Amino acid sequence: MATEVILTGTGIPHPTPGRAGAGTMVRSGDVVLQFDAGRGTVLRMAEAGVRPHDLAALFLTHVHSDHVVDVADVAMTRWLEDQLALCGPLPIVTATGTTEPFLATLFDSFSEDIALRIAHVQERGPEIAISTFAPSANPQPVWSSVDGTVSVSMVAVHHEPVDAVAYRVDTPDAAVVISGDTRVCDEVAEISSGAAVRVHEACRTTAMAPMIAGTFFEKVFDYHADTVALGQMAQAAGVPHLVLTHLIPSPTTPAEVEAFADDVRTGGYSGRVSVGSDLSRVVIDDQFDAEA
Ligand SMILES: [Zn+2]
Ligand SMILES: [Zn+2]
Repeated sequence: MATEVILTGTGIPHPTPGRAGAGTMVRSGDVVLQFDAGRGTVLRMAEAGVRPHDLAALFLTHVHSDHVVDVADVAMTRWLEDQLALCGPLPIVTATGTTEPFLATLFDSFSEDIALRIAHVQERGPEIAISTFAPSANPQPVWSSVDGTVSVSMVAVHHEPVDAVAYRVDTPDAAVVISGDTRVCDEVAEISSGAAVRVHEACRTTAMAPMIAGTFFEKVFDYHADTVALGQMAQAAGVPHLVLTHLIPSPTTPAEVEAFADDVRTGGYSGRVSVGSDLSRVVIDDQFDAEA
C-alpha cells in the first residue's frame, strides 16, 4: 500500500501558464479524495489518471472562487460519465455556512443544458450528496471510507473574513494535512501533529512587504500564509515534509521558485520542502524518507 499526494493545481486567481486552480488529491488504494476544485481540476485529475467517477468524495475548504469554480465541472463530468461507469451522486463534504448556498445553486446556470441532455440521452440530472459539518477550532472527524481504512478530520483556520477549514487525511501509511487558505495559525500546527506531509498555501509576504505597502495587496496578503512565519511554525510543529502550493506570487522562473524555499529556511525550517508545481506527487510508503 502507498498513499499518494498529487497537486492538481498550484495557482491563484490571477492566471499563470501551467498552474491550474487550487486543488490537492490524496489517493490510498482505491480511495481517491479531492480537496477543492479550482480552475482546470478535471483536466489535471485526468492527467493524474483519475476521473470524477473515481472520487470517493470532494472536500471544500472555503468558497473563494479559485477553490470552487470547477466544482460544477467535477459533478457534471461525473454525471456525463455515469453511462460508462455507474457511480452515483458526487459526495461533497463541507462546512456549514457559505458553502451551502453555493452548492444549493450549483447547477442552476446549466438548467437548459441539463434539460436538453435529459430529453436526449441522460436518465436524470447531475446529483451531489452533500455532507456538512460545523466548523470547529478543535480537530473533529468528518468522514471515513466505507472500508474504514481512510479517515478525514478538519479544523477551522484563519482566512477571515472568509470561513475556511483545513483537513487531515489519515491512511494506513501516514497522515497528510491540507491547509486550504489561511494565515499561519496554531490550528494547522495542531492538526499536523504526527503528519508526514503538510500541503500548505504560501505567500511571500515578508519579501514583498515594501512593494505592497499601502496597496490593495496588503489586505489580501494579510489572510494568507507568510512563507517565513510558515517555516517557523513548521519547524516548531516538527513536520517532516512541507509541500508549498497556492503560490503568491506565482513563480515563473527557477529563481522565483527557489525564493519560496529560501523563505521557509529563513523561518528556521530544516525539514524537506517542496515548492509545488501542477501534478507534483509525493508517495508515502514504507520507503518514504522525508529527508530524501
Ligand atoms: Zn481564499
Ligand atoms: Zn485561494
